[in-house]
Amino acid sequence: MDSDVRLRPFEREGRTRVVYGPGALARLPELVRAQGAKSIVLVTDRGLVEAGHARRVEELLASSGAAVLVVDDVVEDPAAAEVELCATAARAFSVELFVALGGGSALDTAKGAAMLVGSGGRMQDLWGHGKTRAPVVPMIAIPTTAGTGSEVQRYALITDEATGQKMACGAEDAAPRVALLDPELTLTLPEGVSAHGGLDALGHAVETAVTRARTPLSDLFALEAFRLLAGNFAQVLAEPQDLAARGAMQVGACWAGLAIEHSMLGAAHALANALTARFPLVHGVAVGLMLPHVVRFNAGEPATRARLAELGRLLPGTEEPCARLVAFLERALERAGLPLALECQQVRAEDVGPLAEFAARQWTAQFNPRPVGRAEFEQILGSALHGARSNLC
Ligand SMILES: [Zn+2]
Repeated sequence: MDSDVRLRPFEREGRTRVVYGPGALARLPELVRAQGAKSIVLVTDRGLVEAGHARRVEELLASSGAAVLVVDDVVEDPAAAEVELCATAARAFSVELFVALGGGSALDTAKGAAMLVGSGGRMQDLWGHGKTRAPVVPMIAIPTTAGTGSEVQRYALITDEATGQKMACGAEDAAPRVALLDPELTLTLPEGVSAHGGLDALGHAVETAVTRARTPLSDLFALEAFRLLAGNFAQVLAEPQDLAARGAMQVGACWAGLAIEHSMLGAAHALANALTARFPLVHGVAVGLMLPHVVRFNAGEPATRARLAELGRLLPGTEEPCARLVAFLERALERAGLPLALECQQVRAEDVGPLAEFAARQWTAQFNPRPVGRAEFEQILGSALHGARSNLC
């Protein structure tokens, strides 16, 4: 890896066709026909069935002339066995196209199943990159949250139920063929889902902006993602029906997802993986809680501090830009109704060592701009335990 980001190689081919616009869901039959599929598996969850979105998508798919099988029992943070069940049903249906409707869990379940249908075996066999033994079944992703960016990524995050480990399973042909972004689908999101997805997407934008693997291309996506997400996070929570703000969050999350494709993540995600494996915390909350502390830690290195200041200058305010960024991230947590201190989430001082050990073993840790190992993770967790500001829980 060249130490100068300006000389770091990248390629941009546009694996995923991104289609964005209010009401864009109506274009689904046309997008399906372009894939030429005659048997489609729609992967979604009970919440979207109850909201009526799954029924509408099923009708749009049927109008394209294809046979449709609905799998609507996706769970939060899908485990390998659940993805394998989905793949088995899809294989029996002779699936030619997956359509995933929902948040990151629905998208990752469909993506994992699309990899397993041809390759067979277990999800654990596909942990890592390029372990598939057959072409991945094509997929159209319709995200209904603004969060993970899975709609444009080659990786699915699937939990190994035996260890709690989040396995990133990816292949070159696993990125969805189409990401269909319709902000109208996000208008009915519960406040918690909007907040947690937004915190995760902000985490993606901030971490990709400074990671050791960043490139000129990821910089482009990371900065614009941060501008959109930071500028609209509070607004979607204050005015959930603000379609323009919803759209900005959806596009921001998508750009942040593309940034990850070209740059990897960092210490906040390594720590979040450790926290969600041991405590009942959702991914976005864990990332959000870690982010201000990781930014403070990373700002201890001059080159990274300068880079973080670039993000800070995109925010209103008069404080020093890095301090402005940290204050903004802490306000975002408060706005999401989350106490800043990790001890409010039942994390105790004696948990710090094992959590740091787990985080240090995460793949994403090596891409953090300032080197992190167990000792540094203990330091970051120590400051997060009581919260850097007055304790709110
Ligand atoms: Zn994330």
